[in-house]
Amino acid sequence: MDKLYFVVGSQDLYGDECLRQVAADAKVMADFFNEKLGAKVKVELLPTVVNSETCIADMRKVSCDDECIGVMTWMHTFSPAKMWIKGLQELRKPLLHLHTQANEKLPYDDIDMDFMNLNQAAHGDREYGFILARMRIAHQVVAGFYRHDDVVEKIGKFVDVARAINFSRHLKIAAFGNNMREVAVTDGDRVESQIRYGWECNYFALGDLVAVINAVTDAEVDAKMNEYTSKYTMKTTNIEAVREQAKYEVGLEKFLAKNGLGAFTDTFQDLHGLKQLPGIACQNLMGKGIGFGPEGDYKISALSAVLMKMAEGRAGATGFIEDYTYDLTPGQELELASHMLEVPVNFAATKPEIDVLPLGIGGKADPARLIFDGVEGDGVQVTLVDMGTHFRIICADIELVKQPKPMPKLPVARIMYRHKPNFQIGTAAWCYAGGAHHSVVSTALKREDIAMFAKLTGSEFIAIGDDTTEECLEKLARGE
Ligand code: MN
Repeated sequence: MDKLYFVVGSQDLYGDECLRQVAADAKVMADFFNEKLGAKVKVELLPTVVNSETCIADMRKVSCDDECIGVMTWMHTFSPAKMWIKGLQELRKPLLHLHTQANEKLPYDDIDMDFMNLNQAAHGDREYGFILARMRIAHQVVAGFYRHDDVVEKIGKFVDVARAINFSRHLKIAAFGNNMREVAVTDGDRVESQIRYGWECNYFALGDLVAVINAVTDAEVDAKMNEYTSKYTMKTTNIEAVREQAKYEVGLEKFLAKNGLGAFTDTFQDLHGLKQLPGIACQNLMGKGIGFGPEGDYKISALSAVLMKMAEGRAGATGFIEDYTYDLTPGQELELASHMLEVPVNFAATKPEIDVLPLGIGGKADPARLIFDGVEGDGVQVTLVDMGTHFRIICADIELVKQPKPMPKLPVARIMYRHKPNFQIGTAAWCYAGGAHHSVVSTALKREDIAMFAKLTGSEFIAIGDDTTEECLEKLARGE
């Protein structure tokens, strides 16, 4: 179970009775958070910070516990922030500053100096906020009475983002083959992305994967085929081609598990030893939360895995997609997003059909793929690009819509969406921002989630949506 440590600040100037009350209130709060957030995280209270030593001990515990995804801090009383410097220097986990109080209302009739000394977050949290700002420590502030629903909800969102960051820092990505020849936006600085996001992206020989795939038994393929026929409609009569994909999925899953990999890339330019480009295999693996990037796009492979992790437990679909083509009817502009084959099954709004059709690229046998119409609802489209000096995360608000008409001849799964605030500004902003043609679309995540992830990982963040104006475009165009 993921853990969120709760560290409360005070000092020993106020006497033991005050510190006993601080500890007791903190315990009540931790119990409350466990009651409300217990499904996603275990909140564990650490000893009250009363000096530099207690802070160092707490933050070392936070940083060294592999089950811990982050820390939540709050100053019950005033807690001189120099006491926090050395502890915070030890912190290597996402940080939430909860600006709250043990009490909701002021006890107007009874309030005295003791009460004010005990309950002075308005004072202590400002002192603490200063040292976080001064030390340039990325963090999230949530303000409000801790029992209020909006505060609990915001802490829950931090937990989702912190869980994703923790996952990101342990994520290993296999690159089968290299980046697609000549393509710019899918490439990037793997050293920097490991430093910033933790992604260990390494090359693996396709031949080694093929060896694992070729060792998959008929019985394993039979079991996988039973899974396919129980979940999907078999439209093709070319069962052998589907069995080939089933073999890829079993082989890939074994290879990933054996090497501790949570994401991978392939490229249609390097498929030696494979008869088909992996289609259903990738679509299904993405459905299990495995990150995938086509054409060697390691960044989108990793980002998709991270955002699927962030969305865990929420309603909605999250996965990789590629911008493809538009309907430019004035005022009703829509985008059709898809890929050669590898659209995650997560996006299926209709029961997927398995079909085997020509690919028209790559010079391999006709691959089996899942075909379906996509989900609807409000969502975000997120991408990450390497600007040379830093990584930029771009997040556009979109509305996923039902496709207006059937597309009986389109041989791939697809989603459709409307840009915000409209086609002209939304897509121009994406172009000015240097947004990629590969992205992660999610109906489970919101802009605020992505913004928090960007902030806590020190990434540049550009948002596009109803608040994007012509003026914003000019700023983006100037690189501001
Ligand atoms: Mn692509």
